[in-house]
Amino acid sequence: MFRRLYIHVPFCHKKCSYCAFASRPPQDGELEAYHTLLQQELNAVAGRGITGGTLDSIYFGGGTPSLLQPEQVAHVLVSVRDLFSLVEAAEITLEANPGTIDALRLLALHDTGVNRISLGVQSLDDRFLAILGRIHNARQARQAYGDIRQAGFENVSIDLMYALPGQSLDSWRSDLLAAVDLEPEHISVYGLTLEEGTDLARRYDEGALELPDEDLSADMFELADDLLTQAGFEHYEISSYARPGFRSRHNSGYWQRDGYLGIGVGAHSLLRDGYGLRCGNPATLEEYSRQVTLGSQQPVDVQYLSREDAMAEYMFLGLRLIDGIKPGRFEQEFHANWDAHYGTIFADLIRLELVRKSQGCFQLTRRGMLLSNQVFNRFLP
Ligand code: SF4
Repeated sequence: MFRRLYIHVPFCHKKCSYCAFASRPPQDGELEAYHTLLQQELNAVAGRGITGGTLDSIYFGGGTPSLLQPEQVAHVLVSVRDLFSLVEAAEITLEANPGTIDALRLLALHDTGVNRISLGVQSLDDRFLAILGRIHNARQARQAYGDIRQAGFENVSIDLMYALPGQSLDSWRSDLLAAVDLEPEHISVYGLTLEEGTDLARRYDEGALELPDEDLSADMFELADDLLTQAGFEHYEISSYARPGFRSRHNSGYWQRDGYLGIGVGAHSLLRDGYGLRCGNPATLEEYSRQVTLGSQQPVDVQYLSREDAMAEYMFLGLRLIDGIKPGRFEQEFHANWDAHYGTIFADLIRLELVRKSQGCFQLTRRGMLLSNQVFNRFLP
């Protein structure tokens, strides 16, 4: 039913100015209590007979999972190993933010079995880090990266953001080059989007900030593609670049509709039975904590996917991958005729130069990546 496990940690030191996620600073004792809830939830899931196949990846996401003490991460992983089987060399990722980790903590984390760190760098330019309201500066981000390597992690991803207020193409180039110089195995590149209710959106509405226009944002996306590809990274998903052999197994699973189980407040799951069941945990910590403590978890947002729902997901998730979609695989999975379902749509997308056909696969063009939402909308049931 699932081969991937996601573990959510909803705490952050301080809110970043662009962030609309539900996260907040932990109160005294809250991290300790939360890691116990995670273990209780894992036990309850296993007790209800919800078992996966052998787990191929585990991902601690947030929020800022690196706020957990390494012992707390270790306890959660012991529970996981007790309750589920893992493939040898399963990918175990933990998201970390500079300013929340140091050399000793990272050494201890390495001992827990975590073998991949995803570091929220966002920029290596202090001006932009200040605008984004990050808790760290560029020097601390470099220090955190060095400490991660020193601790023995051989698979490190860093996140970068572009289309930032006041950012030029040249300053974005400098950020990309600085990131490449660090020699990570993986880089994720996201354009800033203004989310309602955030500090950054408020300042923009007040006229206090100027953002790059659409053309400049598109140039920044293309620059990242050119520069990172030339530096030896494979562009394998719209926002993701990896050295050969270092694609994120966990995230690739999402795009391929692998089943996954989400643990923690607000975490979502896709349980693969038939076309799939999507469901979530309660969104507030109070309700999540109450239900887990009472042993009476009620899933929210429960959706049994129809064949049409699942086909739509297959298309718009699969097209995010640069390798694209093979009609034969689709036909095998859904026992459906490709041309009858999608022949006309793809002919149109190819005419608009949003999609191309290469070696039997349909793939987004660069233009298609920039206008990906327009492409994905074509597949909604
Ligand atoms: S660290 Fe990440 S989750 Fe936390 S406030 Fe900043 S952007 Fe949001």
